[in-house]
Amino acid sequence: MKSDLVIVYHRQPYEEVEQDGQLVLREHSSPNGIVPTLKGFLGKADRGAWVAWKLAEDTSNPGFDPVIEISDSYGTYSVSRLPLTAEQVRSFYHITSKEAFWPILHGFKERYNYDPVDWPTFRAVNWAFAEAAAEQATEDAVIWVHDYNLWLVPGYLRQLKPNATICFFHHTPFPSPDMFNVQPWRGEIINSLLTCDSVGFHIPRYAQNFAAVVRSLTGAQLVEDCDTPTSLAATGGALNDRRMPLMLNYYGRRIAIHTRPVGVNFDYLAELARSDEVIEKRNAIREELGDCKLILSVSRTDYTKGNIEQLEAFARLLERRRELHGKVRLMLVSVGANRNMTAYAEVQDRIEALSGRINGAYGSLEWQPVTLISQSIPLAQLVAYYAAADIASITPLADGLNLVASEFCAAQDPGRPGVLILSEFAGVAVLLDGAIPVNPFSHASMDSALDQALAMETDEAASRMGSLRRCARRWDIAAWTRAELDHFAELRKRRASAGDTSDPRPAA
Ligand code: UDP
Repeated sequence: MKSDLVIVYHRQPYEEVEQDGQLVLREHSSPNGIVPTLKGFLGKADRGAWVAWKLAEDTSNPGFDPVIEISDSYGTYSVSRLPLTAEQVRSFYHITSKEAFWPILHGFKERYNYDPVDWPTFRAVNWAFAEAAAEQATEDAVIWVHDYNLWLVPGYLRQLKPNATICFFHHTPFPSPDMFNVQPWRGEIINSLLTCDSVGFHIPRYAQNFAAVVRSLTGAQLVEDCDTPTSLAATGGALNDRRMPLMLNYYGRRIAIHTRPVGVNFDYLAELARSDEVIEKRNAIREELGDCKLILSVSRTDYTKGNIEQLEAFARLLERRRELHGKVRLMLVSVGANRNMTAYAEVQDRIEALSGRINGAYGSLEWQPVTLISQSIPLAQLVAYYAAADIASITPLADGLNLVASEFCAAQDPGRPGVLILSEFAGVAVLLDGAIPVNPFSHASMDSALDQALAMETDEAASRMGSLRRCARRWDIAAWTRAELDHFAELRKRRASAGDTSDPRPAA
């Protein structure tokens, strides 16, 4: 049976765990995170499907069913498991996506590594995703493709399903033409995206950058834009944009540019923070801290996340303000990424070395200034840390959105509010009003943000946190889901009333 909503996302929609020597598929334990969020859409369709990849030694004989039927608390839906070899995954994901696209998306031109890219493999894997999605989709389905590692899927899908409503969502930043056009595949990527009915971004600036890249490479016209709503330009920070592009016209075809930040499951997190389990954990953490203030920083290990800059700022704090020795601790949760990827292994090594150096230079038996955690912390424990922390310091150099900042706000006890230090270069900064803004490229800015946060009176912290929580709740996951579903309905209506929907562009 074909599906009217097909989600194409590289990861599978459940965890594969081994139990008694058997591989079992387990639903994610919490509704927090991008996979559960996207799964929430499956239950809203008459019939939903999900397309992801799964490792196979031999793709023609993978040793598992390529399509399975899942029934869980999200509903009944099909999952297509596209078999890919380890070499294909390495090439399309670890090399092309992470060594070439990722640095460009985040503005690190000097880290862009073009040489090892095997573009035919990238094309072949994207083609296979498109075929797997087309197999599951009705002729007029909504097919929703996620993230840059699948950039070519829309173009292929349009050949296979000319009447489908094809939407694409970027979970990362989208850079300006100066940066994006470094890539030799720029035209092919943009031509693929221009076959979509809608291309989505977290914030207006990324949408504007996309419109500028399109203008730099094609004759597509921006035919509609609008003022950015004040709730998406809350802070006047570096990523603000006063206008939002809405519609492109490309040879008579209309392509919506859709701006909508993914949120967090605010109510779930707030409730979890109030649960007996979390309160007990939070109290135990506070007891252990004694009269030390806790600065918390949580992210993946990645050069974009600013963890090294964070540690350096903390070292300067201890050097500048000796009276804080024994009175402040930094807990850096930097979840180790793939050790086989040189760029991440280097960052991890530097983080470990710097944490050790700070503890060696300033610590004592009674007081270790830095606690470094490199493993992922389960959500309930993480929420307890959010609730126990005095300050969350989130200082990425570039970040598509950053969910941790909003999660921290959702987990706060309004009676004992924490303070949020937030990089101007995290997408979420344009919607979270009340944080101390920080420029992680500036020592002076990082230093004064820490001083301001440590000195903040409770009244001011409460008023800022009240505002932050209102913003995080306003842009929560329920709001995102409603907005996306409304958008799909509008696009389908437009497509149905457009009559001839074939692509009128001249052949490339
Ligand atoms: N996270 C987690 N355990 C950890 C660290 C992080 O569950 O030890 C989760 C965190 O709750 C958040 C996500 O990982 O939902 C990170 O999302 P974010 O948007 O901040 O960064 P990304 O890794 O997607 O760039």
